Amino acid sequence: MAALSAAEAGCSTTLLERDLEGSSHAANTLFEGMAARAGIAVEESYVIRALDGMRIVSPSGFAATIPGKGYFIDRKRFDEHYLRLAEGAGVSILDGEALRSKLDGSRRTVACTGGEIDARVVIDASGIRSFLAQESDLRPMRHPGDIAWAMEAEVEYPALGDENLFSYWIGSMAPGWKATFSPAGGDRATLGVFVRGHGQNVQSFFRSFLGRFKSEKAKEYRNIEEMKILSVRRGGDPICVLPGEITADSLMVTGGAAGQSGLVYGMRAGTICGAVAARAVAEGDVSAESLVEYEARWRSEFYWEYRLGRSALLTLSGMKDGDVDLLVRGLSGKALISGDSFLKKAAFSGARVAMVQPKTVFGLLRNLLRG
Ligand SMILES: Cc1cc2nc3c(=O)[nH]c(=O)nc-3n(C[C@H](O)[C@H](O)[C@H](O)COP(=O)(O)OP(=O)(O)OC[C@H]3O[C@@H](n4cnc5c(N)ncnc54)[C@H](O)[C@@H]3O)c2cc1C
Repeated sequence: MAALSAAEAGCSTTLLERDLEGSSHAANTLFEGMAARAGIAVEESYVIRALDGMRIVSPSGFAATIPGKGYFIDRKRFDEHYLRLAEGAGVSILDGEALRSKLDGSRRTVACTGGEIDARVVIDASGIRSFLAQESDLRPMRHPGDIAWAMEAEVEYPALGDENLFSYWIGSMAPGWKATFSPAGGDRATLGVFVRGHGQNVQSFFRSFLGRFKSEKAKEYRNIEEMKILSVRRGGDPICVLPGEITADSLMVTGGAAGQSGLVYGMRAGTICGAVAARAVAEGDVSAESLVEYEARWRSEFYWEYRLGRSALLTLSGMKDGDVDLLVRGLSGKALISGDSFLKKAAFSGARVAMVQPKTVFGLLRNLLRG
């Protein structure tokens, strides 16, 4: 998206990608509300299936349903769609790996497999390893230790993929974030755990979640023990790390690399980033002072939402399973989403939480103040 918006604004733009097949890309879920907020129109061409919302499940199995259209997407077609848009806008797409970059006056040279790219502005969108940024001594995530480490499997069982809600379990089975069930239609679905604070190897959490999932589903699917695991992906989700230093002379960082987690919000961040890069190039000033407009624009659109999200996850991490049960049980059956603006929705949901578990609201506020 950064390359696309820079090219649309008239910049000569090159996109370097070491995995054009996208075999390393795991994310498969989009929610309509978040996409609309990020200004992204979800395209039918890459949607496998539309679902009606999500179930939040507590450790003892209480569930609260949150309505809201969500999509299971075909990641290959999704990547292909945006690559073609970029190409159509004039971006040259290069298959290769960035090895290092060097600041040279008001330009940066990127050494990559197959040669060198000489650029006025380099945008690092390389995901959580934020390779070029780190190498240039930027710390693009404010709380890198809070990355949620994930293990997600594609599974197969007759009709398992036909359920109409995404399910998210919270509590000690996936400390700090969630365990997920995403029905992909027909016999396909994904099951995953996203865990914070327990290192990068989260296999033991995955195994116990798998056991729990099968026993919960045994009533509906008689032979669920025979569910097949087709493939497994691992990775890090920078869900609540917040952006840190994301601009320097001739250098910008965007997307997961900058802690701007979530596909659609990352896409919007990339769009802002590319537009600011193009403006800076056109004005002939690619200094950090000129590029910092990107941070200001990102903050005005998203900062408080990410701060609230981080605060909510920290609060959740500190709750005992019994308290999570009480919270979810209290919320079950109540409308959780109201109003159109983000702040109205947050205030409404906050009021609901305050009614069922006032101490959670103090936790949220305390974590919000922590930054
Ligand atoms: C298992 C898992 C499931 C997830 N599910 C969802 C979901 O359903 N919905 C959602 O919204 N978010 C999800 N997330 C979070 C989401 O994946 C990230 O927010 C998002 O991928 C960030 O996008 P990005 O393009 O910035 O980074 P990435 O997706 O990490 O892409 C970085 C790209 O840079 C390339 N690259 C890296 N280094 C180099 C180099 N040196 N040279 C050239 N190219 C390089 C990589 O090949 C890659 O294509 C999930 C995360 C994980 C780990």
